[in-house]
Amino acid sequence: MKPFTYSRAGDAAQAVRWGARPGAKYLGGGTNLVDLLRETLEQPDALVDVTGLATDITAHDDGRITIGAGVRNTALASHAAVRERFPVLSRAIVAGASAQIRNMATVGGNLMQRTRCAYFYDDDGSRCNKRQPGQGCDAVDGFNRMHAILGASSHCVATHPSDLCVALAALDAVVHLRHADGDRSLPLVDFHRLPDDRPDIDTQLRPGELITAVELPALPFATRSTYRKVRDRSSYAFALVSVAAALELDGDAVKDVRLALGGVAHKPWRAFKAEAHLRGKPATEASFLAAIDAELADARPLRDNAFKIDLARRTATAVLRQLTETQP
Ligand SMILES: Cc1cc2nc3c(=O)[nH]c(=O)nc-3n(C[C@H](O)[C@H](O)[C@H](O)COP(=O)(O)OP(=O)(O)OC[C@H]3O[C@@H](n4cnc5c(N)ncnc54)[C@H](O)[C@@H]3O)c2cc1C
Ligand code: SF4
Repeated sequence: MKPFTYSRAGDAAQAVRWGARPGAKYLGGGTNLVDLLRETLEQPDALVDVTGLATDITAHDDGRITIGAGVRNTALASHAAVRERFPVLSRAIVAGASAQIRNMATVGGNLMQRTRCAYFYDDDGSRCNKRQPGQGCDAVDGFNRMHAILGASSHCVATHPSDLCVALAALDAVVHLRHADGDRSLPLVDFHRLPDDRPDIDTQLRPGELITAVELPALPFATRSTYRKVRDRSSYAFALVSVAAALELDGDAVKDVRLALGGVAHKPWRAFKAEAHLRGKPATEASFLAAIDAELADARPLRDNAFKIDLARRTATAVLRQLTETQP
């Protein structure tokens, strides 16, 4: 591991000042970054610890919830207003990692965690454009069972590993950012990038920019929402496919819906096409299947992961069916 300095920021202004220095990197719970340091995939000169900042969850009277970037995953999953207003978010978080990791991991760190593509971590023998731009991608023709079926490029077929972010994508979350040049906000669905020809760049975050908070706009029908994750083991495994959904019914018809998929793309995949297809349709198995098929029409499976198409179809349909039977 390359030596680095460690400083603990006292406030966001100080964090951004220190984070703007070349070679600086923010430290959340360290559950991803410390592994990357150990593997020398990240080699910062300075770590700026931001875990003491932005640790509040504010449930507003108008239905919004503002979540500080330093909030630990466990605290978010167990917060009473989150469980009541956005059960999909609580369920997504507890579907991830382990209790110990969730106790350490922060919201900001979860958004920024890097892919779990095995070739990315194998810098002894594998080619990886995300690790070293221009090197090539051994996953494209390699063992690619865990990889993307939507939005990939010939440069990278990795998936984003977060569960929490899939729920945030479904809920129209907004990410608040601070930079030495000022503050800005981005919709979560635009925060992560598709790989195109620069898979080394995961997000729209600028160098030195700090995530300060994530905001969930009011969505009254999200009381009828859930998350389902399909994986090789029932705990401590990343998603093969996951589905976050919220459903509003008007009698037997779909009045409104939010749908996002995990484990299928380089970013949490908001299923806008499926949503558009479903609004106003009868809340039946046939409508659910037609909607998810519209979303998956663009899927381009690799050698080992064509099964994800059917898995995503079946999981999304099952989740929507479950929500039609759920009392809000
Ligand atoms: C064995 C294992 C299994 C896991 N399984 C799952 C799983 O199933 N589902 C899932 O979703 N996750 C899973 N995780 C990932 C885990 O949730 C992430 O490691 C965690 O969310 C990262 O949060 P952290 O606070 O520890 O971030 P860190 O490791 O501290 O940082 C990660 C990145 O975020 C950056 N960063 C941190 N805070 C900020 C900020 N405020 N602004 C800007 N950048 C910031 C850091 O610079 C770094 O680049 C797993 C992790 C492990 C080790
Ligand atoms: S899929 Fe992406 S992360 Fe994996 S080897 Fe290819 S370029 Fe690297």
